[in-house]
Amino acid sequence: MTESKPAVFLDRDDTITNSHPRTAHLPRPGDLLDPDLVELLPGAGEAIAKLNRAGWPVVVFTSQGGIARGDMPPPFDRPRATLSQVELVNDRMRSLLAGVGARVDAIYYCPFHPSGTVARFTREHEWRKPRPGMLRTAAVELGLDLTKSWAVGDMPRDTEAARNAGIPADQAVLLVAGKPLSASNVNANGPTAPDLARAVEMILHRNGR
Ligand SMILES: [Mg+2]
Repeated sequence: MTESKPAVFLDRDDTITNSHPRTAHLPRPGDLLDPDLVELLPGAGEAIAKLNRAGWPVVVFTSQGGIARGDMPPPFDRPRATLSQVELVNDRMRSLLAGVGARVDAIYYCPFHPSGTVARFTREHEWRKPRPGMLRTAAVELGLDLTKSWAVGDMPRDTEAARNAGIPADQAVLLVAGKPLSASNVNANGPTAPDLARAVEMILHRNGR
């Protein structure tokens, strides 16, 4: 039996990619459905490359409830949000990351939402943050040790999902840059960082590199 290893779990939208400023004109800002809108946040790709070089598996876990809601990507005459639309956005992110020498080892996304319009995906699901399903599935499929893993996200539900999966609270980092102090950027018992680059510095420092 192979020994399980720790990983770094990353939220996607507004952790790796710049979502809100690019979607502010949409009915639901934040849902990145158009591959042409994908751009990396400053320093995010380089931070992931550092994790790659240090030997950490990098696993993305992202909520994509727009699939359940049937949201349309701009310019709104395109097909509705679908699994393949999300895959296109993920592919674009992967190619932008490759451009700075970075890669993610796996991407898990949750298409479910309880108030959707697409019957197949309209329900609660163990993969919906803050539930731990995506991280636990990744741990089984990729042989990861959650107790030694880290997670980084820009929403409390990201760090909550990490804790619910068994990642220690002090290894679940909430990104708070540019946000006024409020209930939405308090990380219970956990660390905060301004951006992914600083979070990765923290992870590498805490692990002696
Ligand atoms: Mg996010």
